[in-house]
Amino acid sequence: MPELPEVETVRRGIEAPLRNQQISRMIIRDPRLRWPVDDALPAQIASATVSGVSRRAKYLLVETDRGRLMVHLGMSGRLYFVPAGTPAGVHDHIDWELTNGQALRYTDPRRFGSVHWLLPESSGHALLDHLGPEPLSDDFTGELLYQRSRKRSSAVKTFIMDGRIVVGVGNIYANEALFRAGIHPKLAAGKVSRPRYEKLATEIKLVLSEAIAQGGTTLKDFLGGDGKPGYFKQELSVYGRGGLHCLRCDTLLKEIRLGQRATVFCPSCQKR
Ligand SMILES: [Zn+2]
Repeated sequence: MPELPEVETVRRGIEAPLRNQQISRMIIRDPRLRWPVDDALPAQIASATVSGVSRRAKYLLVETDRGRLMVHLGMSGRLYFVPAGTPAGVHDHIDWELTNGQALRYTDPRRFGSVHWLLPESSGHALLDHLGPEPLSDDFTGELLYQRSRKRSSAVKTFIMDGRIVVGVGNIYANEALFRAGIHPKLAAGKVSRPRYEKLATEIKLVLSEAIAQGGTTLKDFLGGDGKPGYFKQELSVYGRGGLHCLRCDTLLKEIRLGQRATVFCPSCQKR
């Protein structure tokens, strides 16, 4: 599943080729994504000029002079460029053809992604309401985690994966950041001290930044039209290493389920 670093990598990859380009035609081959794609959208977006691409949580926002296109990649969605008119495969659901002869293509075998159109006069979208701060922004701090967690008995790992608290901390990154911060994933969020939350916020920012930096090196594969999805592998200390030795202290890493997500930790390095 594309996580925040992959989505940010896509954003960086598509922004320059899209900026200042005019959309000549939108082709919807199959509107059945997570929510049906509005059949009025091709008429609304035709002749729009793209001014930039931004991101909120895992939503990509293509800004145009006629409105904003909001795309979520779901479980298996991909966005990449092909020459306009390139024959479409069975999972190539949408093309946005540009006047320069290229097309932005949306491919999604599992169809859990989504495409919405936000008119210029609307300030946002219900899907974007109630989202916590971006993890790499200055609004996200250890102090925020500390304040929002008081009296909460849910596990700290579940807490930091809650998009209302902070967006984009997926399962892999929650596991890694908690290991690096030395915090047991099952510890009640309300019991974590302020200094430990400072450390945790720092590690969340670092692990995500490293993944984004890693993504930059694989951008070409990632945006390539064919073959495997190029989601990048980061050097991981705990995720996927249950039962193996801790890289720091050699203790065997434990794997449990927490909120139905695979959770790996070092019983020695990560304290309650
Ligand atoms: Zn250890």
